[in-house]
Amino acid sequence: MIIAVASGKGGTGKTTVATSLALSIAANRPDVVAHRPSGESRGNTPIERRGGLLFLDCDVEEPNAALFLKPVLGEREDVGIMIPQVDYSLCTFCGRCAEVCVWHAIAVVGQKVLIFPELCHGCGSCTLNCPEGAIHEVLHVIGTLESGCAGPIGFAHGTLKVGEPMSVPIISQLKKKHLTENDGRTVILDASPGTSCPVVETMRGADFVLLVTEPTPFGLHDLRLAVQVARDELGLPVGVVVNREGVGDMGVDEYCAAEGIPILMRIPLDRRIAVAISRGEALVEALPEMRSQFVTLYEKIQREVASRKEAQ
Ligand code: SF4
Ligand code: SF4
Repeated sequence: MIIAVASGKGGTGKTTVATSLALSIAANRPDVVAHRPSGESRGNTPIERRGGLLFLDCDVEEPNAALFLKPVLGEREDVGIMIPQVDYSLCTFCGRCAEVCVWHAIAVVGQKVLIFPELCHGCGSCTLNCPEGAIHEVLHVIGTLESGCAGPIGFAHGTLKVGEPMSVPIISQLKKKHLTENDGRTVILDASPGTSCPVVETMRGADFVLLVTEPTPFGLHDLRLAVQVARDELGLPVGVVVNREGVGDMGVDEYCAAEGIPILMRIPLDRRIAVAISRGEALVEALPEMRSQFVTLYEKIQREVASRKEAQ
C-alpha cells in the first residue's frame, strides 16, 4: 500500500505526520515491518528494501524527513536528465533541432548551437530530428538520491542541486528505483507542499493520499486545491488530518462533511509538539502517547483502501 502524505501549503505539519506515522507503524505493527517483498531474500536485497516499511522523502527541494527519522545512509548516486551535445564536425546549422524544441532549450545562432541545460526537459526530440545525426546525449546531473535505513524503516530521499529548476525527474527516479509494483510493502511518500507538478508526480500511483491541513481559512483554501488534484484529477481516494486543532474555525470540518471526505485524525495545538519539532524530534518521540492514534490512522487508511478496491 502506497500512502502519499501531502498538503496544499507549506507549514501544515505534513512531514510531522508522515514521519510519526512511519515511526508508529514501526513500533506497533511488527507484521508490517516483517513483511518481505515476494521473491526477495535478505541476502541479496538492498538494505532499504529489506523490510516491509519504506519511507521516501519526495520533497526534493527541501528534504527534511531525515532530520526526524535519523536514517543511516549508505548508498548515494547522482541523477539527472540526458541533454543534447552537438558534434560540430557533422552539424550543418540547419536549425531543425531548435524548431522542434518546444522548451526553447536549444538555439542555432550563426555557426553555433546553443544549449540551455536549465530549460532542457531531456525529451530527446532534437536528437531524433537532427537530419545529420550530429546530436548525442550526455547526462546533466541535477541532484542526488541517497538511501539507507532508520531502524526497521527503509529510507530514501532525493535532493535537487541548488540552482536547478526541475525537481520532477528526481522524484520519478527516486520512485522508480525504490518502488516495485504490488510487492505488498507499506510505503509512505512525503510530498512537497503545494499542488504543482512535483506533488502530482509524487501522488501518481499512490493508493491513498493523506492531506494534512490546519483548520483556518488559508488551510481550507489550500485543502480544496489539494483535493482537486488528488481526488478530482488523479482519481485517488483522500482523507484528511487536521493539525493544530483548536487554532481556527469549523470551515475544514464543514467542507469535508459536504464533500464526503473523511477526517481521519486530529492533532491538537500543543506547545510541546512545536518545541519537539524545533529540536529535530518527531512528534511521537515527544508525545509517545500519540503513537496509538497514528496506528489507528494507518488502520483507517488500510480500510479505506480495501473498501475502494472492493468497490472497483
Ligand atoms: S538539427 Fe542537427 S545539423 Fe541541424 S543545427 Fe541542429 S545539430 Fe546541427
Ligand atoms: S532534449 Fe528536448 S527539451 Fe532538451 S533541447 Fe532537445 S528538444 Fe529541447
